[in-house]
Amino acid sequence: MQKLRTSLLLLVVATVGLAAQAPALEEEVLRHYQAVLRIDSTDPPGNESGVVAYVKEQFEKEGIATQTFQLEPNRPNLVARLNGSGGKKPLLIMAHTDTVNVDPKKWTFPPFSATRDGGYVYGRGTVDNKQDVAAGLMTMLRLKRDKVALDRDVIFLAEAGEEGTTRVGIMFMANQHFDAIDSEYCLAEGGGVTRVGGAVKYASVATTEKIPRAIELTARGPAGHGSIPLQNNALTHLSTAVAAAANWVPPIKLNETTAAYFKRLASISSPEEAERYRNVLSPDPNVSGPADAYFRKEAPIYASMLRTSISPTMVNAGYRVNVIPSEVKATLDVRTTPDEDPDKFLEAVRKVINDPSVEVAWAARDTRPNAAPAKLDSEVFRALENNITKHYSAVTLPTMLTGATDMAYLRAKGMQCYGIGPATDIEDGPKGFWAHSDQERILESEFQRYARFYYDVVRDVAGKR
Ligand SMILES: [Zn+2]
Repeated sequence: MQKLRTSLLLLVVATVGLAAQAPALEEEVLRHYQAVLRIDSTDPPGNESGVVAYVKEQFEKEGIATQTFQLEPNRPNLVARLNGSGGKKPLLIMAHTDTVNVDPKKWTFPPFSATRDGGYVYGRGTVDNKQDVAAGLMTMLRLKRDKVALDRDVIFLAEAGEEGTTRVGIMFMANQHFDAIDSEYCLAEGGGVTRVGGAVKYASVATTEKIPRAIELTARGPAGHGSIPLQNNALTHLSTAVAAAANWVPPIKLNETTAAYFKRLASISSPEEAERYRNVLSPDPNVSGPADAYFRKEAPIYASMLRTSISPTMVNAGYRVNVIPSEVKATLDVRTTPDEDPDKFLEAVRKVINDPSVEVAWAARDTRPNAAPAKLDSEVFRALENNITKHYSAVTLPTMLTGATDMAYLRAKGMQCYGIGPATDIEDGPKGFWAHSDQERILESEFQRYARFYYDVVRDVAGKR
């Protein structure tokens, strides 16, 4: 009884303590968030200096030193560091300060107003990626204020140019100032928590990603008058080749991440869906085949996660209706799995096309370096899983992104990078409110939950044990 009374008392004290503290923190992190949302850093042109100036001021007010690194005017990257004991290598937390562009006519509330309405915060960058600027900044400030003892340095990087001009951002930092950000682990955008019908369904943590490449097909044949059809018309050959490549189903190639993804997804799905997620993992093509065919038709993102993918995207052929062109080209968007051998894959595409009049070659593209996936049995992945359970009561799905992120440059340097993100409603995408949509928004309560989650993860990974 005495014991119970003591614990009750402790509980009351703890609750009062939290209640007294939390609103002030919530107010503060929201203030930082709205402040950076109100700075227009749309890329192009980028102009991230306003956001960097704001963040720098907050750090310096509390005695956290910052450094800026800039390749081009008005496009600074900011680094701030909290020193740990040096017992372990640093943790890097990243946020990009630029956003995609806006068409103001499409916005109910002005895109840089950070308007709070109906439980949401509206503005360009609310989920891509100023939530990380605010959550990262707040985490650093709290660690410093609370004098949290750290086993490893925590480095905050606000990077420019993520939205298409990585040369001034992560490429510049990775290639020319890696010393400033060299870490064992990094946290960046790329994952997120999915809500369906208002309830949290699962959390994705991005541990690897596909590599963007391009194949160019060139068909050649005699030029001629359109009035006299030719069997070796270059465009006919090209069309057949494009169709063959697009209709080809490259073999399934699973890795640790994708195997765990489908296995865990099965554990939270309806029996019918769960069967497909499990079947697609089977080495027996008779078992995996029907599930794979279903995904290709009904859930193409899953089909893309299973293999190197090909999408024809551009054709460059002909210049007038009555001339058969002698040379025509098509481009295929190819996303290779991290373990794909590019030479062997190109050879396989050649075989599929099987036409000597069509040249098949890799083309130049803003690609990403190849890198090993981040581990699932690491300190950071475990901290993420624990905190996803604690804050979201959800299953963690390690995820291979089909698109490319800035993490690739750091993974290529040996960093273990994990992509995370706040909870968003799956219904919000079709309504036009996601990252890169006409409008962008987040539930204020989810922003706050994310900020708490973020702090706890960083503290668990870097705090003294
Ligand atoms: Zn982004």
